[in-house]
Amino acid sequence: MTPPPFQAYLLDVDGTLVSCGGAGRRSLERSLAHHCGPIDGALAPLRLDGMTDRRIVREALGLLRQPFSEERCDAVLARYLLHLEEEIAAPGYEVLPGVVDALEKLRARGALYGLCTGNVVDGARVKLARGGLDRYFEWGPAAPGGFAADGEAREQIVLAAVRRASTRLGRPIDPGEALVVGDTPRDVEAAHLAGCPVLGVATGRYDAAALRAAGADFVAPALAHPDARRLLGA
Ligand SMILES: [Mg+2]
Repeated sequence: MTPPPFQAYLLDVDGTLVSCGGAGRRSLERSLAHHCGPIDGALAPLRLDGMTDRRIVREALGLLRQPFSEERCDAVLARYLLHLEEEIAAPGYEVLPGVVDALEKLRARGALYGLCTGNVVDGARVKLARGGLDRYFEWGPAAPGGFAADGEAREQIVLAAVRRASTRLGRPIDPGEALVVGDTPRDVEAAHLAGCPVLGVATGRYDAAALRAAGADFVAPALAHPDARRLLGA
């Protein structure tokens, strides 16, 4: 079967390209403890996967019964990044199967691809750099990707990524021509709200059945799988 002619590939980070072994949560908890005092398990109900960093901070402050403001969110995330630089070095980090090969192939064939992630830019960069993957991506303001600063709602991030990919191509891309690749039902929902098809990869917390049930247009056990490679033209 010939793959659909995607004009852009928008890739999630956590659970899709890398697994950080809990470094993100540890870094966030350290930052929140600094800003808010002892946490004592108050953040146990907080789910991070598929979420966006600013929404995570909003929900975490709510669980800690602390007021939210954009300035406070910026301060929590700034300190989070300091801790992340350290926590990311801990054991448990993994580049997920097939990722390096897929990125090599995308780059080699000149495909337009970028990140589509709830991470702040520098968080994504630290997480990818640990596995040597940062070199596959652009990091400037014109990079064809979407990040936490583009909105608390994940679909805003997808739309921003499509917009920047269009700018890069020099013509408007229909969202249906941009394949979002992610590992959670939230990725699927956000991509569909933005009008993009989704490849769900079961390398995060959710298995293939859960991603299929969420409505993913394509599902693969990992980016190493032939179905995923075909969709990426890799
Ligand atoms: Mg993810």
